[in-house]
Amino acid sequence: GGAGTASATRQVKLEKESELRIEVANDTPLRLRLLNGTAEIFGTELPPQIWLTFPPHFKFAVFTWYGATIEMDGSTETDYTADETPMVSYVNVHAVLDGRRNQAKASPESSQGPRVIVVGPTDSGKSTLSRMLLSWAAKQGWKPTFVDLDIGQGSITAPGCIAATPIELPIDPVEGISLEMPLVYFYGHTTPSQNVDLYKALVKELAQILERQFTGNAESRASGMVINTMGWIEGVGYELLLHAIDTFNANVVLVLGQEKLFSMLRDVLKSKPNVDVLKLQKSGGVVSRSSKFRQKSRSYRIREYFYGIANDLSPHSNIANFSDLFVYRIGGGPQAPRSALPIGADPVANPLRVAPVNIDRDLLHVVLAVSYAQEPDQIVSSNIAGFIYITDIDLQRRKITYLSPTAGELPSKYLVMGTLTWLET
Ligand code: ADP
Repeated sequence: GGAGTASATRQVKLEKESELRIEVANDTPLRLRLLNGTAEIFGTELPPQIWLTFPPHFKFAVFTWYGATIEMDGSTETDYTADETPMVSYVNVHAVLDGRRNQAKASPESSQGPRVIVVGPTDSGKSTLSRMLLSWAAKQGWKPTFVDLDIGQGSITAPGCIAATPIELPIDPVEGISLEMPLVYFYGHTTPSQNVDLYKALVKELAQILERQFTGNAESRASGMVINTMGWIEGVGYELLLHAIDTFNANVVLVLGQEKLFSMLRDVLKSKPNVDVLKLQKSGGVVSRSSKFRQKSRSYRIREYFYGIANDLSPHSNIANFSDLFVYRIGGGPQAPRSALPIGADPVANPLRVAPVNIDRDLLHVVLAVSYAQEPDQIVSSNIAGFIYITDIDLQRRKITYLSPTAGELPSKYLVMGTLTWLET
């Protein structure tokens, strides 16, 4: 093991219940294939013999239940095999969830399957565990709903959003979650402290819509949900976890890698006998990412939205008049002008207030969400269609140039601005 820089083709033999942990080099992709045996990447089985290409910086593990030989071509930052993993405990959780799904499906009134929420500090492997549970469920024919509440490192769409999507097939180890029709709400910032009330309001909207969809869809309902959360678990972060557990009616809470959080949640959820709180070991393979790396991967996620994971998408550059687009901001600013308040009263900031934003140079390099709202006052409660990226503001000619995944009219003229920016590189 250790730091490998060799770039020749090489084979690694994996014993049963062990994994090959890889960090792809910083500048070149890595090709990898399963030569024999069976192996999976975060819950998704590898096809035999087929070369897969992993982009630079990618961090992952190839795990085998029964033994496998893996071939690699290209250089890695590190690669080593580990035979101590928490995978057996993870798959045991999956088995319990599976039992509950079967129960839900078999019950005459077709009841609710498990609603699992995965919590823990940053870099405890939450996203990875969520992904495994989803892929294992999908492999058995369930259609679990993935809910991602992580506005910092979400895996459904761009940062600054909370989102949900049904998972119908095991998740592609390279491409990630396929984006059929995700339900996305735009928060606009990468830390929840910017506007806690807005975060809560959006979580509530998302939960309500899913609840409605479940009512009409016994298959999704029995399959249940897997909810990934943020790594912020102290203070307001903890409050937001409780809020999410409550709002989504989660009935299985999986706590990764933190004794204190586990005992706090166990104690506070004791009053709810139908909620199980389980402690799970963090995998030794989870890689800690610096805040700089997180920042970079956020920027990479935005790039991926417009250009695709392997530069396979070509976004369109569009030009609009200032008067064609309506940009709004949520929160901040006083609710009413001082003159309208009783003498001595301070204007209170309304976190859910929707206010128009003047188009000026400040919009340059901003990522805006395209809202499905029909009217400005529906912006907070509306999901979004996608994003545009402002590449030029011409004050003289009053023209905006922006990048959009598609050509032509935007699905709506209402755009939402947060603090999400991007420097195209
Ligand atoms: P969290 O969601 O708690 O912040 P992640 O699940 O995103 O943590 O894991 C952090 C990083 O570690 C990710 O890049 C992930 O791919 C990587 N990782 C997780 N488990 C393993 C493993 N067993 N071997 C190698 N890398 C892993």
